[in-house]
This record gives sequence, C-alpha cells and structure tokens, in this order.
Amino acid sequence: MRSSPSAVPSDPDAGVPEVDEAAAVAFTQDLVRLRTVNAAGATAVERPAADLVSRLFTAFGWPHEVVAVAPGRPNVVAVVEGGGGPGRTLMFEGHTDVVTEGDAGDWTVDPYGAELRDGRLWGRGAADMKSGVAAMVHGVRALQRAGPFPGRIVVGVLCDEEGLMLGAKAFAASPLAAEVDGVIVCEPEGYEVCTSARGGIRLRLDLRGEMAHGAMPQEGRSALVAGARIVAALAEAEAWALRRYGTHPHAGAVTVTPTVLRAGDPDQLNVIPGRGVLGIDVRTVPGTDHTELTEHLRQAAVDAADTVGVTVEAAVVDDRPAVEIDAAHPLVAALVAGHRQVHGAAPRFGAVPGTTDGTILTRDAGLPTVVYGPGGKWIAHQKDEYVEVREIAEYARVYAAAARHFLNGGARPEGGGT
Ligand SMILES: [Zn+2]
Repeated sequence: MRSSPSAVPSDPDAGVPEVDEAAAVAFTQDLVRLRTVNAAGATAVERPAADLVSRLFTAFGWPHEVVAVAPGRPNVVAVVEGGGGPGRTLMFEGHTDVVTEGDAGDWTVDPYGAELRDGRLWGRGAADMKSGVAAMVHGVRALQRAGPFPGRIVVGVLCDEEGLMLGAKAFAASPLAAEVDGVIVCEPEGYEVCTSARGGIRLRLDLRGEMAHGAMPQEGRSALVAGARIVAALAEAEAWALRRYGTHPHAGAVTVTPTVLRAGDPDQLNVIPGRGVLGIDVRTVPGTDHTELTEHLRQAAVDAADTVGVTVEAAVVDDRPAVEIDAAHPLVAALVAGHRQVHGAAPRFGAVPGTTDGTILTRDAGLPTVVYGPGGKWIAHQKDEYVEVREIAEYARVYAAAARHFLNGGARPEGGGT
C-alpha cells in the first residue's frame, strides 16, 4: 500500500537533511563489536547484528521483516513510506557479515574493539561494510525526519554477502524486489560512483593421467606437468580475451588467474602423480560472453593437457555476470547530484573490482544497481581495517540527498569526472 498524496513533497533542491552523526558513528561501533564472521559451516552468523538492526528499526517506527534465509542467517528488510504520495521505490542495500580477522596478532588494534583513534573507526567490517549499513540507515532516517517525500524506501540489511550471497538471492526472489526501481549498494568504494562491477567465473579442472615411478617417466602421464602446461596456456587465453572483449573504461580487462594447483605427495618425491586439480579465478568485464569464454578456457586446458596425454574434466563452480548501469540512468543521476550537493563537486565514476549483492539483484531480479559507500576501495578483508569517522555522516547525507532527488524524479544526468 502506498500512502495517499496528503502532504506536500519535500523540495528536491532543498538543503541536505540533517544527519545524527553521533548516533550513526555509535551504531557503526555497535555493529563492529559483533563478530559476525562468515566462516565455512558457521551458523547464526548475522543473527546478533540483525537483532541490533531490528531493534533500531523498531525504535524508528519502521515496519520491517526479519526473514531467516537459512538457520541463523536473517535478512532485515524495512519499508519506509515517504507519506508524500505515490512514487518510485528506492532501495538501499548492505550486508552484516564480515570475513575473518585472520590472525588477530597481526592487527595493531582489537579487530572487534571498534576503537576511535586518529579520526578513524577501527575493526573488521569498519569499511566492509558496517559503516555503510549505518550510513544508509541514518541517511534514510534523516530524510524521513526532514519531512514527507513521494514513494518509499526499502532498507535491505542482508546476510551472506561474503559467502554464497543467500541474502541477496532470497531478496531477489521476494515479491518486494519486483517493486524496486533502483538500488544503491553501500559497499566501500572510496567516493567513486561505481556504475559497473566485474563478473566472475570459478573453474575447477580435474586432471587424469597415469601414476608411475619417477625413474620410469615413460610409463606415466603426469597430472603435474599437464597442470604446468595449462597454467602457461592461460596467459595466452587471457591475451585472447583481451583481443576479444577489449578494455572497459572502468572495469579494465578480463583476467584469468590460476589459484590452485595440486598434484603429487610431498612425502613421495619418487612418484609421478596421475591425478591433479587446477583452480582458475576468472574476472570479467561488461560485454564478456561467459559461455564463450568458459568454452575457450576449457578447450585451451584440454589441448595443453593432451600434449602430455592427460585428460581434463572442467566444472564451473560459480558464474556471476559483469553488470553495468547507464551513467544517464535516473538512479545514477540522483546519486551524482547528491554527492555534488554534499561535496561541491562531481564524483569520479568507477567499477567494483569484484562482485557485490548488487550483481545478484541485477542478475536475478533485473534491478538497476549502483555501488557507492564509505571506506577505502582496497581496504576490504585486510588487517587493521578502518573507516574515516567523518565519512559515515558524509555518506549518510549523500544518501539522503540522492534519495530525495530520485524519489522526486529530479536530477538530470551529468557526467562525473574520470
Ligand atoms: Zn562487502
């Protein structure tokens, strides 16, 4: 149900709504203090963060649902009506899971201390992306407190982004997704408006040769040598992909990276291994034909292994497309206008180096997505992760301003810097 047009919509060119900075920073700290590590086999990963978010939404009076997409793995989704009449539905999206801190002894701060020092908030998830969650929530709250606006805002705090993206997949399949006109994904991108995100293909190659004595190589067919030849051939395949798909202005070129090669036994140095496994991490750019590229890589591997009599079985373990939104799309125009209002200059455009929940929302539900959020672009998953404290409120203000532009149907497209 949309609200009836009873109140006057707020003026899109009015000042940027006032953000409760202290509350946004404190909420980021509260989230960072929860160790929501998405590790293999972990259960109830995001539950404490979802409870915290749910309590805040209740305090704001926001109707919301907590939906477990797997045991202990909840999505929290609020729908905030503008009260200014019918209009578009804008979604802000963030995730509450984090990657492991690794060896906490390598950190110079407590990974879950959420310490404020040198103008920074430190800890696992400070940038990726608990500050983004706090900024979007408090940005929407600021807009709401500034007065009625047309349409409504979906605030999606999802689970499992660092894993199989179960949260995004579940949301994309929900009826609400079909009503969303655009999504701002609040991942850390260092002030860039990311209109594209690279895609990915994970390939597993199982190599089958013939085991033999190291003194009698003529009797064997080595999976290890086949693996080495395939690795060499992948460089050529990468060059082929560059010629075939070119270079994208923001996303760069296709990369083909061997990540795993296993064959043989370190305790059996006199045995030629008959079996092996090779893993390949392929990153793609908008315009890449995944089916064609996968087949090209498979054939290159088969040909290389065949030179030493080894066969290859290829399996696609994961396949996520590269996604892109037109820079002239109203969602991008609104975000650029919001950034300009807060920062006094147009933002740079960029590309997400990996995939985000936005990739799934575009792939599975056809939603236009753009990625823009607090924190450095390259700091995710590193030790001593931090976000600049001032960025949290800055981004909240841009989100509020961008939402106002998008929901009022304003903001003409303009080019960002490059
Ligand atoms: Zn993230």
